[in-house]
Amino acid sequence: MMRFMDFHHSPHARDVLAEVQRFCEQHVLPLNREITRQVRMDQDFSSTEVQRLRAEARALGLWNFALTELAEGEGTPLSNTDYALVAEYLGRVLWSSQVFNCQWPDVPNMVALQAWATDAQRARWLEPLLAGACHSVFAMTEPDSASSDANNIATRIRRDGDEYVISGEKWYISGAAHPGCRFYMLLGVTDADAPRNARHSVVMVPRDAEGVHIGPRSSYLGFTEPMGAAHRLRFDEVRVPVDNRIGAEGQGFQVAQARLAPARLHHCMRAVGQCELLIELMLLRARERRTFGDSLAERDSVQAWIAQSRVDTEQARLLVQRTAWQVDQVGAQAAFRDLAVLKVGVAQAYHRVAERAAQLFGAMGGHQAGPVAEALAWSRAFRRVWLALLLCG
Ligand SMILES: Cc1cc2nc3c(=O)[nH]c(=O)nc-3n(C[C@H](O)[C@H](O)[C@H](O)COP(=O)(O)OP(=O)(O)OC[C@H]3O[C@@H](n4cnc5c(N)ncnc54)[C@H](O)[C@@H]3O)c2cc1C
Repeated sequence: MMRFMDFHHSPHARDVLAEVQRFCEQHVLPLNREITRQVRMDQDFSSTEVQRLRAEARALGLWNFALTELAEGEGTPLSNTDYALVAEYLGRVLWSSQVFNCQWPDVPNMVALQAWATDAQRARWLEPLLAGACHSVFAMTEPDSASSDANNIATRIRRDGDEYVISGEKWYISGAAHPGCRFYMLLGVTDADAPRNARHSVVMVPRDAEGVHIGPRSSYLGFTEPMGAAHRLRFDEVRVPVDNRIGAEGQGFQVAQARLAPARLHHCMRAVGQCELLIELMLLRARERRTFGDSLAERDSVQAWIAQSRVDTEQARLLVQRTAWQVDQVGAQAAFRDLAVLKVGVAQAYHRVAERAAQLFGAMGGHQAGPVAEALAWSRAFRRVWLALLLCG
């Protein structure tokens, strides 16, 4: 049966957006310069202001919009189609998602736990995340394995009675040393002799478990994500109960796949917000900068850059809305092709817009303290590691 796409956002979503905008204008934007400086320049993620805003947002019910299903009291669930509206707005200020508990990597981890955790595991791992009591990471990528192919992941998860013993090294794990991070969702090998796609499992590893070593942080092109730097992690014979395994042994990829749709969709939704911000910055810059007697805004090439960025952003938004609608209609698994098209299309559009903004801003376009250079770095990261990042979100 032909499905007519109707990705109009519900009146409820528009009400939620209006409340989020009001909250951000009153509380988030006034803090933006300071929090961004703390994250970007001081690598400080312990802001008490952010914790205060999280508590206020939660008390107002402005919480957990990124999840489509919630129990009473856990927040305000939105469909993917509706969340696209809010996430685009939050994408303008990269750290703002965490104020409403809509931050990565926690949200994709919560979706995977909602899909695969037992009741006991929900109480141990999911409920603290839903309540915003702590943060988590997804630990897949390894320095010595080409990790865009998850089959190459080699961290060993060896069974020893009622425990697993974990040995291996991970890197570029976003938020691994965040002051609020309490546990890692780790992908590793439980049975190297099993058939392909059935060798890996996901286990939850408490950050303070004996043998967990947090190594040096890795920034990307000099930038750090708002939820904490990406770090190297070493697991030296770390022992965890077998009950920490999510799903059955060998189902690691299925559990990781459950993180896929929210990771892809939400990154793309926020990227559209970033593109809108970049266009506004380009317009401001073009009007205020003058060369050879004219403002940059009067230059044909500059007008073409801004116009082309508008085209890229509108196309990216339509791809996001179509894919969010498709996932709401048929589920993430059946919409896999749409999600694949989305990841490539939006990543490329975001990078083109950031490139043009960097050109228009001249030297300022690459300056560490500027939003344009940061967007350029993230749009590049989106494109470079887009393949496996799908599993890492
Ligand atoms: C800012 C940032 C945050 C990250 N956060 C996390 C995190 O929280 N958790 C985590 O586990 N990982 C994280 N990563 C790591 C990221 O997921 C990896 O970089 C990714 O898994 C790619 O693996 P690799 O770097 O080993 O690249 P490789 O596997 O060596 O691949 C290198 C390149 O080869 C190309 N390539 C690979 N396969 C194919 C193919 N089939 N067809 C065409 N081209 C191909 C791709 O362009 C790829 O970029 C993060 C990375 C960055 C930059």
